[in-house]
Amino acid sequence: MDPDITTAVKTALMRAGACAVGIAEAGPVDDSAMAQFDRWLASGHEAGMTYMHNHREIRRDPRLLLEGAASVICMAFGYRTGRMRDPGLPHISAYALLPDYHDVIRKLIRESGIGETLGEEHRDWRICIDSAPVMERYWAVRSGTGIRGDNGSVIIPGYGCEVFLAEIVTTKRLRPDTPLDRDCGHCGACRSACPTGALGTERTADCRRCISYLTIEHRGPWESAEQIMAMSTAAGKKTLFGCDRCVTACPHNRKGIPCTGMPDPSDEILALTDDDILTLPPDRLSAKLKGSCLKRAKTDGLRRNALNLGSL
Ligand code: SF4
Ligand code: SF4
Repeated sequence: MDPDITTAVKTALMRAGACAVGIAEAGPVDDSAMAQFDRWLASGHEAGMTYMHNHREIRRDPRLLLEGAASVICMAFGYRTGRMRDPGLPHISAYALLPDYHDVIRKLIRESGIGETLGEEHRDWRICIDSAPVMERYWAVRSGTGIRGDNGSVIIPGYGCEVFLAEIVTTKRLRPDTPLDRDCGHCGACRSACPTGALGTERTADCRRCISYLTIEHRGPWESAEQIMAMSTAAGKKTLFGCDRCVTACPHNRKGIPCTGMPDPSDEILALTDDDILTLPPDRLSAKLKGSCLKRAKTDGLRRNALNLGSL
């Protein structure tokens, strides 16, 4: 374990734009965390995200992702740039105003110079940004990068929870950090802000009634009573993509997070309307959404969301 390498890696990633970096020794996820994950799946709260049942063993131990893995490097990148949509327009989650974070963060990490320290990508280290079955919030907490809030998000003390998380699994044995010994404060603002009562007692959400899930991941029409209830709320009828009201409401966000390294929100997405979604020819709509997180909902999903705004 080389303390100089640990410092070099952290410095490079902070320079690349991360607002927090923590390191954990690679190994099995605690039984209690796996049991909680299993309870969430067993309750059906993952809704249509059946892929969450896959690759349980890899999820349980990131060493199965990369031969010889010794450390997990966790990073948080702030995403609120200050440029927001006109509040009169349909709601789009703040993070989705930026170009797709998967590509942006991968590029920031690759250009940070850590390859000189960690070795060859794919053989000596692997980047995970929603792209591998990794318990990212668990590792963010275990590495001391942040704490888990009652809204389910990872809160970076002093900054807040409006962050993207990313991990690097590496064969390098780096000096691990200690988990932070504090909790979020349990003020209840996230729970009060949730329009559908989707937040559970174990810092998880019931996706069957979560507007974020229903407007991004859910495929097809909303049919169950819970889905229809959620999307008939005032918030549901104002939402084009995402939600995150439980994240925005958290008082830990007051100071804001430096958003270094992130590109500005796209002007096209800042101004996007439901009319654009419903009336633009497919090629022009596709051009507007190029490189955007909104593509995750697919054209049919965005049209469904836009049609739901009709009775505002
Ligand atoms: S994203 Fe919205 S609907 Fe889902 S838990 Fe948070 S506030 Fe509730
Ligand atoms: S809003 Fe309050 S209860 Fe919810 S995560 Fe933030 S500090 Fe915790």
